[in-house]
Amino acid sequence: MTNIPPDWNSIEVVLLDMDGTLLDKHFDDHFWEEYVPRRYAEIHGLSIREATDRLLEHYRAHEGTLNWTDLDFWSDQLGLDIPALKRQVDHLIAVHPHVVPFLDAVRRMGKKIYLVTNAHGKTLDLKMEKTSLSGKFHGIYTSHELGAPKEQRRCWEVLRYRTGFDPERTLLAEDTLAILESAAGFGIRYLVYIAKSSSSRPAGRSTRFYSIDTFREIMPEER
Ligand SMILES: [Mg+2]
Repeated sequence: MTNIPPDWNSIEVVLLDMDGTLLDKHFDDHFWEEYVPRRYAEIHGLSIREATDRLLEHYRAHEGTLNWTDLDFWSDQLGLDIPALKRQVDHLIAVHPHVVPFLDAVRRMGKKIYLVTNAHGKTLDLKMEKTSLSGKFHGIYTSHELGAPKEQRRCWEVLRYRTGFDPERTLLAEDTLAILESAAGFGIRYLVYIAKSSSSRPAGRSTRFYSIDTFREIMPEER
């Protein structure tokens, strides 16, 4: 059974994804699908349409791998300074509604909270700097340092070794279904799908996983 609501009495550890889960994915979508194609078109003398087509094909070839989120890889491949470009649009980085009260409530209940992201260290640093969320976590792990993306079982094995989390007493919130599947395969019990990952796109759908639009829906009740 994967579609079950979180039982806060049995949960000890909360694993949270960053982009789309805690933060509005609008920033990432806009950056990769609009801002980068525009800059790429300028440099290579292409139309926006041509640049977008070429880039989307390029992105697809690396989805679900560590290259996908490696800013140095993309800077090199595209001939653009990707970290510098991100800074130019960093005003779009935003925390989803109800995230901060949720993190505070879970922490007050004595649960351990870990941020686990496929994002590259440079992206992580920029986002933590813009949102001031880093103090809310007991630990922050990137799949680059764990050695495998979250789509792979290996990532959860290394994370369990590093944090000692018990999959039966763990909740994972994610906006990527493939990652929830990999976590289910590893035995993580409480899997929450963030259906509304971007403020500028309609909510997604999942019948397989317990789905929420915002963290208000699974806010633990404090006594
Ligand atoms: Mg995500």
